[in-house]
Amino acid sequence: SQNLYSALRAAFPADLDQVAVEATSPAGEPLAYTWRDLDRASARLANLLGSLGLPPASRIAVQVEKSVEAMLLYLATLRAGHVFLPLNTAYRSAEVEYFIEDAEPAVVVCTPSHFGQVSRIAFQRGTRHVFTLSEDRTGSLLERAAHFGDAQAPVARTAQDLAAIVYTSGTTGRSKGAMLSHGNLLSNALVLRDYWGWRTPEQGGDVLVHALPIFHVHGLFVAIHGALISGSRMVWLSKFEPQAAIEAFARATVFMGVPTLYVRMLADPRLTREATAHMRLFISGSAPLLAETFRAWQERTGHTILERYGMSETIMLTSNPYQPDARYGGRAERRAGTVGFPLPGVQLRVVDSQDAPCAAGAIGHIQVRGPSVFAGYWRMPEKTREEFTPDGWFRTGDVGLCDADGYVSIVGRNKDLIISGGYNVYPAEIEGVLNALPGVQESAVVGVPHPDFGEVGVAIVVPRAGARPDAEELLAALKQRLAGYKVPKRCFIAAELPRNTMGKVQKNLLREQHRQLFA
Ligand code: ATP
Ligand code: MG
Repeated sequence: SQNLYSALRAAFPADLDQVAVEATSPAGEPLAYTWRDLDRASARLANLLGSLGLPPASRIAVQVEKSVEAMLLYLATLRAGHVFLPLNTAYRSAEVEYFIEDAEPAVVVCTPSHFGQVSRIAFQRGTRHVFTLSEDRTGSLLERAAHFGDAQAPVARTAQDLAAIVYTSGTTGRSKGAMLSHGNLLSNALVLRDYWGWRTPEQGGDVLVHALPIFHVHGLFVAIHGALISGSRMVWLSKFEPQAAIEAFARATVFMGVPTLYVRMLADPRLTREATAHMRLFISGSAPLLAETFRAWQERTGHTILERYGMSETIMLTSNPYQPDARYGGRAERRAGTVGFPLPGVQLRVVDSQDAPCAAGAIGHIQVRGPSVFAGYWRMPEKTREEFTPDGWFRTGDVGLCDADGYVSIVGRNKDLIISGGYNVYPAEIEGVLNALPGVQESAVVGVPHPDFGEVGVAIVVPRAGARPDAEELLAALKQRLAGYKVPKRCFIAAELPRNTMGKVQKNLLREQHRQLFA
C-alpha cells in the first residue's frame, strides 16, 4: 500500500520511547510526546474514524486551534484512508459555510466554542458527525477516541488516492480546493528530506522549531513531513512569539517561517549569533523575502536564509541550494531575491502568453510538471482544465524568470501584472527599486483603472521606523531610475500593508481601495 502514514511510520526511530514532540500546554506546562505516543494516539483516532462506517476518501474537515492533537488527527485521517481538509482558524461562519457546502465533509472537527455555529451549518449540509477539539485536549473527539484501541493497520491506498484537500489562501480571489494525493505528498517529502539534508536519527537527528499554523501546506506538509520522514524531533510552538522561537533555537537545528516571522525576530535584540549558534538551517517561503531581511539576518546571526517556492497545488517546487547542487554546476550560493533551482523531479519552464518557452533571463509565466503537482481543483473541472496546458503543464499563475545560472525569481502574479498603455509593468521590479530608496521599509505597487492608459500603477509605501519619506520625492527618484511607463502615477505613505495570516500582501484589497483614483 502507498498510504503516506506507512512511509512516515517507517521513518520513526527504532527507539519509540524517545521524545518526538516537545510542546507546552496552554497553562504553560511542558508536554512531551514520544514516537510511541504519536503512533498510539493516531491509531485511536483512526479507529474512531473507522467506526463511523464512512465510505473511503470521506472528507474530514478540521477548524481547530493549533495543537499536537490536531496533527495527530491529520495522521489518523491518513491511516483511516480519508481526506484531511484543514481550514484557516481565521475563517468566520459565512466562510466556513462556503467550505462545508463546497467540500461536503462527512466529519467536521471544530473548536468547542464554535460548536454551536459550526454544527448548525454542518448538520444542515448533511454532515452527520461533528466533534470538538480544543488546545487543552478537551472536547468530544479525544473523549470518544479514548474508547478505541491503540493499534491500527493503515487502510490500503494507492499513490493516486486523495490524502488532503487544501484550500488556497485566497490571495487572488475565492479559495480553490487543491486535491493532493498520497503520492504527491510522499514524493515531495522525500525530495525535501534529501535536498535540505535532514539528518536521520543515526546521523544525530534534526530538531525542528515548528512555529507555523497547520492549516496550510507550509506548516502542515513541509514542516511536519520533514520532521517525521527523517525521524526528527519537533519543538512545537502553538503560536509564534519571537522570544519563544529564539529561546528554542538553543536546542534546535531547523526553522521554517514566512518572511514576517523573520522580520519580527530581527526586531528582538535577543536574536544574536550566540542564540542561533546551534542551528543548521533557516528556511523561508509562502511570500517573497525582502533582500534586506535576508542580509540583516546574515549580519545578525551569520546564517543565510534558504528561500524556497511552492503553492497549495504543487507543494514545493524550487529551493535555493543547501549544499552544492551538481545539476547546476555545483552552485551552492543562496541568492537573495531568488527562489533557487527547480527541485529534483520538478520540471519548470517560463513561457510567453502563447505557452512558448522564453529565453534565459526573460520574464514570463511559470509552468510546472512533476510528481508533486496536484490532480485538480475540487469540483472545478472547468478551472482545472484551464490551468493545465494540453500537454500537462500546470499554469502556476506566477510570473518570473530563470537566469542563465538556473536560479528562478518570482516577480509577481499574473493577476497583479499591470498593463499600462500596452506595456507590461511588473510590480516586483518597481517595489525592488522603491525598497532601496532611503526611508522606505517596504512597498506594494498595484494597477488601477485609468481612462487613457487602461491601467496605471499606484505605490503604497511603508516608511522605516523614524523616517518620513515624501511621496512626491519618491516618485521623482523612481523617474530617474525607471522608464516612464513603469513609474506609478501616485504614491501613498501607509503605516503597514494589509497581510493575511500567511504574511501575504493582499493586493486585491489595495486595488479595491484605490480603484476610483482616476475614474
Ligand atoms: P490563491 O491561489 O487563492 O490566490 P495563494 O496563491 O496565495 O492564494 P497559496 O497556495 O497559499 O495561495 O500560495 C502560493 C503562492 O504563494 C504562490 O503561487 C506564490 O505566488 C506565493 N509564494 C510562495 N512562496 C513564495 C516565495 N518564496 N516568493 C514569492 N512568492 C511565493
Ligand atoms: Mg494561488
